Amino acid sequence: MSTRFSGKVVLVTGSSNGIGRATAILFAQEGAKVTITGRNAQRLEETKQEILKAGILEDHVLAIVTDLATEEGQDELINKTIKKFGKLDILVNNAGAAFNDAEAKTGVDQNVSIYDKIMQINLRSVVTLTQKAKKYLVEAKGEIVNVSSIAAGPQAYPALPYYAMSKSALDQYTRSAAIDLIQHGVRVNSVSPGAVATGFRQAMGMPAETYEKYTQFLQSHKECIPYGSIGQPIDIAHIIAFLGDRKLSSYIIGQTIVADGGSTLVMGMQAHNMMDILKS
Ligand code: NDP
Repeated sequence: MSTRFSGKVVLVTGSSNGIGRATAILFAQEGAKVTITGRNAQRLEETKQEILKAGILEDHVLAIVTDLATEEGQDELINKTIKKFGKLDILVNNAGAAFNDAEAKTGVDQNVSIYDKIMQINLRSVVTLTQKAKKYLVEAKGEIVNVSSIAAGPQAYPALPYYAMSKSALDQYTRSAAIDLIQHGVRVNSVSPGAVATGFRQAMGMPAETYEKYTQFLQSHKECIPYGSIGQPIDIAHIIAFLGDRKLSSYIIGQTIVADGGSTLVMGMQAHNMMDILKS
């Protein structure tokens, strides 16, 4: 078992599912003490059990069921982490969500209440949790890794404009926070995943079979995912661990690493072979 994170304390938000779960397990497997969190107690317990199954001491895991969208929830995360582990080295701002309009409106008609909910969890909670964690990260000369999305652009995303906007704003926050905090020895970076197989769409209310159909479509259309398959949470977890590992990524400041199977590199026009078009 690798021990590259031994002695480090890592807080991974949104670790009751998906990318956050894979990330928490990876950090724990590589020696870190981890705080895992989400609102769903049962799924959070599943994450904890997976960590314990990997042979990690129970004392290295702190599970906190709380709503990250509230400042009380964020205070609880920081205070309990410091109380149990005495410090914080790496903050992974991973929790995030998109919501559907009750009337399934998209584009500029999407209800503004959706805007508020999305900004609250995807952006505001990152801003305030970072403020609350700053003192400890400065003490530890630690790292922040934010989880953004290729939805941030520059391509448009009319199906979920507020979600895309929350991630574009997060990217600017990553850059600005990185320059502000590097003077204190704290590095801030982010990862921008493309489509990854997680609970994200189910959390939006998409039934499992519809999600399966959607995934199949993306995978079989090279203008959607040139790589030919959807990403797995561990693919993103490895990048988060890389950005959290000062030995490997110390000179990367305020950047986002895109991991999307090539999705953002293709325009529809270029996804098709020109010679085939000319022959048809
Ligand atoms: P999941 O739905 O699988 O996981 C989301 C996590 O966020 C869950 O653990 C959920 O916990 C937590 N969360 C959401 N809202 C709250 C809240 N109010 N309080 C506490 N925890 C909350 O999705 P992913 O793993 O895919 O999402 C992780 C990140 O990756 C997000 O920021 C997302 O935007 C980003 N992303 C995902 C992509 C994908 O294709 N899957 C693509 C690009 C980016 P719980 O439900 O227990 O509260």
